[in-house]
This record gives sequence, C-alpha cells and structure tokens, in this order.
Amino acid sequence: MSDILIIGTVALDTIETPFGKVENALGGSATYASFAASFFSKPALISVVGNDFPREYIELLKKRNIDLDGLKIIGKTFHWEGFYEYDMNEAKTKKTELNSLEHFKVEVPERYKNIKYVFLANIDPEQQLETLRQMSKPDFVVIDTMNFWINNKKKALIDVIKKIDVLLLNDGEARQLFNTVNLVKAANEALNLGPKAVIIKKGEHGALLFTKNKHFSAPSYPLENIKDPTGCGDSFGGGFIGYLAKTNDLSERSFRKAIVYGSVVASHNAEDFSLNRLRDLTMNDIEKRYKEFQDIREF
Ligand code: AMP
Repeated sequence: MSDILIIGTVALDTIETPFGKVENALGGSATYASFAASFFSKPALISVVGNDFPREYIELLKKRNIDLDGLKIIGKTFHWEGFYEYDMNEAKTKKTELNSLEHFKVEVPERYKNIKYVFLANIDPEQQLETLRQMSKPDFVVIDTMNFWINNKKKALIDVIKKIDVLLLNDGEARQLFNTVNLVKAANEALNLGPKAVIIKKGEHGALLFTKNKHFSAPSYPLENIKDPTGCGDSFGGGFIGYLAKTNDLSERSFRKAIVYGSVVASHNAEDFSLNRLRDLTMNDIEKRYKEFQDIREF
C-alpha cells in the first residue's frame, strides 16, 4: 500500500544550462517528487502523459516502486522548455506546452483515497483542489507551485493554500505571490492563510522554515559540480514529505530533519541533467551527505 499520494506533471523537458543541453528528457514535478520520495516511502502518482511518452521512462519510475495506476495516457505529453544563465537559481521559461494536461480531469483511484500524506506538486491549482476534494481525509498535505500558476490562476491557488498544512515556495515566488520584497513578511502572510508551516527555498542558499513561533534556517550544500538545477524544488519537496511519511512524526523538529533530507536529495539532483543522478543515487549517498549537512551547521 502506498503512503504518499503525489499529483503533478510528468513531462518531456528541453533544457539548456551553461553546462549542456537535453531535448525531450524525462522531467515534471511529479516525476522528480515521486522519485525523491521513493527513497523514504512508497509514493503513488496521479498525472497524465501522451502517447509520445517513451516506455523506458515508465519503466524507470516502476523500478523505483512508484505506483502508476493514476497515470493516464492521452494525447501529447506536457512539454517545458527552459534555460539557465550563470545564475542557476532562476529557471527562465521559453515555452510551456500544456498539451494533455490542459483538459486533464483528475480521478483519484479508489484505493488511493485513504492515503494519509498528500503532495500537491506543481500543477494547475484547480487540479490540486480537485485532488483534495476526492481524498477521504488526509492527515498532512504539502503544496508547491510556480510563477506560471501565480500569473494565471492566483485565485484558485490561494483557495488551495487555505486547505493545506505546508506551503513550499522559492524566494522569487514568495515575493511575487505576496507582493513584497521581504521574505519574513511573505511567510507571515502565507501563515495567515492557514498553513502550519511555510518553507521558502532559496536555491543554492538553503531553505527557511517558518511556523507560528519558530524559525529555522537550513544550510545549503557547497556543491562544486552543478549541471542542471531543474527539478531541485520538486526533489526537495519529495524528500521532505517522504521522510515525514516514513517517520510519521509531524513535530517541528522532524520538519527540520525532513528539510535537510529534502536538501540532500535536491543537491544530488543538480549534479546532472534530468533524472540522471537520481536514478543511480543510493540511501548510502543520502545518509553520507546528511551527515555533512550536520557538520556544516555545527558551531
Ligand atoms: P523545479 O523543481 O521547480 O525545477 O521544477 C522543474 C520541473 O517543473 C520541470 O521538469 C518541468 O517539466 C516542470 N514544470 C515546468 N513548468 C511547469 C508548470 N507550469 N506546471 C507544472 N510543472 C511545470
């Protein structure tokens, strides 16, 4: 039985960074998130791909024991084209082709409806809301989003934020969504909408956790070999919720550890294009870097 439900995109990405280029590579928020979560827990995925989606990509997800009964095959796969300049913290979108995602009707399979942990990874906020509507009564819901949805579906996005437990955003998105340059103000505005916690991801500079009375700043990892940061936000989210589902401990202390596990998986992800690093990653690699994170923070 799966212990995390993840809805998001499964994509074919065309990406250019200062270190190379890939075309129609495996990507998507749900892909990265479920892959990352699978190191800790057993994710089930809801998404849609087209008939053009390579079989080998499906096999790769299956090999990590990701439950794909909620993956529909209709029309043409969602395609994202982006690039990074020397500031690798900011993805620039060239093209977003929603394709089969545009008319995708969420149908949560019956046996997923009682899953307790839900990750609403980056996708249309109306599809995120519909997923929650069909679930029985999840214990813990995390949401992620991006500028595309803040620009196009802000009202639906605010509606869904009111119903969840943890909001994940990167710094640029937090400023955009709450109309302020100050991240503390943005986090407080977010908390006023209802979530118990807000996590602001700052790319290679770590992540900030805000709850009602506490604040935690997770270190970043001094990564020398960065090739492609695509999917780091999603792998962070997947690692975060994966660790929480595994331990079933939702204390603030456990959130802090989960943030570091999320950062560990995300930092590995940046070392290569697409899922190329995550597909060979082992739990040993993860634990080793987790210890290095602990050392970085010691003073
Ligand atoms: P990130 O973790 O933020 O780097 O997410 C990267 C992934 O997001 C890529 O693999 C894209 O396929 C996917 N993506 C890009 N644009 C969107 C969008 N508007 N909605 C959902 N997923 C997207």
